[in-house]
Amino acid sequence: MLLYNSLTRTREEFIPNEPGKVKLYTCGPTVYHYAHIGNLRSYIMEDVLEKYLRYAGYDVTRVMNITDVGHLTSDADTGEDKMLKGAKREKKTVLEIAKYYTDAFFADCAKLHIKTPDVVAPATSCIDEFIKTIESLIEKGFAYEAGGNIYFDTSKLKQYYVFNDFKEEDLEVGVREGVEEDSNKRNKADFVLWFTKSKFDDQELKWDSPWGIGYPGWHIECSCISMKYLGEYLDIHCGGIDNAFPHHTNEIAQSEAFVGHKWCNYWFHVHHLNTNSGKMSKSSGEFLTVSLLESKGYDPLVYRLFCLQSHYRKSLVFSYENLDNAVIAYKKLIARIASIMKENAGDVDQAAFDELKAKFCAALDNDMNTSLGVTALYDVLKAKTSPATKLALIADFDKVLDLDLIAKAKKEAEPKVEDDGIDHNDPFVKEIEALIAERADAKKAKNYARADEIRQLLSDKGVTLIDTPQGTKFKF
Ligand code: AMP
Ligand code: ZN
Repeated sequence: MLLYNSLTRTREEFIPNEPGKVKLYTCGPTVYHYAHIGNLRSYIMEDVLEKYLRYAGYDVTRVMNITDVGHLTSDADTGEDKMLKGAKREKKTVLEIAKYYTDAFFADCAKLHIKTPDVVAPATSCIDEFIKTIESLIEKGFAYEAGGNIYFDTSKLKQYYVFNDFKEEDLEVGVREGVEEDSNKRNKADFVLWFTKSKFDDQELKWDSPWGIGYPGWHIECSCISMKYLGEYLDIHCGGIDNAFPHHTNEIAQSEAFVGHKWCNYWFHVHHLNTNSGKMSKSSGEFLTVSLLESKGYDPLVYRLFCLQSHYRKSLVFSYENLDNAVIAYKKLIARIASIMKENAGDVDQAAFDELKAKFCAALDNDMNTSLGVTALYDVLKAKTSPATKLALIADFDKVLDLDLIAKAKKEAEPKVEDDGIDHNDPFVKEIEALIAERADAKKAKNYARADEIRQLLSDKGVTLIDTPQGTKFKF
């Protein structure tokens, strides 16, 4: 299996540290607002990666953090704490905001068939680990105290800018006009591990530490949560491409300084979902949610298909026109599968099954090419093989694509029962239906006297019969 590794900027053969086992870490959401469909693009593509690894036979353990403290409005050390900003906006406490938006995030994930990771850890549940790691970084000479805060000293590293696309100038990016540069930093790239001299006196969540009461920086949480649950050697780290710098660069700096060896082998970055006016972001306030799509009548799984139709390393432009094309594709897919279900199934042809499955695997083995994976699904529909083979393949691919194909098609293939608003389990309705059936038999047998008698009997009970070309209906 080839995976593109942002660290080496090449597609590499994926080889886990321990044969057959994969340790996977995902940067979780900052829970100060709803996840937008851009965030969810990252989680959908990471979900497909996880499901494909499992499909390929790996025993996967996946861990995700929930950022409920420490993420400032700039990804560096400037601006306000995003959680505090969310709490002020909604006149609630930080913990109330965190609970509400964490639940909302997992509700969205469920709608999009994104599996919940094996371990989900809020940053606020691991404060002891952060403090211990920072203490050790100070002891090892990789961190220093200045102006009340603890900083990571990037000058102590052999190489800080590990993702080659980034340079020192990029550090300016998050700094907005009017925000002063932090004069405590020894080097421009240094970053905060622990804040005690808070710029925000009203910071709600603070903890005692050897350096005074304060709270952790954002980057330290992912290093510590990953190492707490997955140990010192990580196979794959996932996140959106905006996280590569400075967040993932800082994670690597801290983690490798702490463990003293290489920490994570593969970096899987999902590129952005954009709108015509640029990157979709929470902070801009203009973003689309799954609930909004639902309110406009879109099935969330249509959005999943929309994402799968393009490669995770290409930016994707969202428009309703593009989404409508995915609606058509999804409906056609379900209709084609439903019609295959109505055919005479026959037996599974193992040779055809293996050949078509190999195409699907070749697509995903080639750096998770989900768009070719979807093409492999269309190849199944067109293939000259038995319906049983096709249905077995569709169910098999859907372990990875997770588009609910079989269940939806089954529903479509079922004979449609008209909803006439009548409760057919009601004993009185059952009695009427039995009499209508008897009347039909009587008419067939030319026993019109009995047929009229039944009509009268029902009329006495307040039931009127209406004979239509589709059969006899009734009303009270
Ligand atoms: P956040 O909740 O802001 O911490 O972001 C959660 C995840 O969504 C991170 O992995 C981000 O890199 C990712 N992300 C943010 N914006 C986008 C976008 N427009 N498209 C795809 N992924 C994104
Ligand atoms: Zn992270």
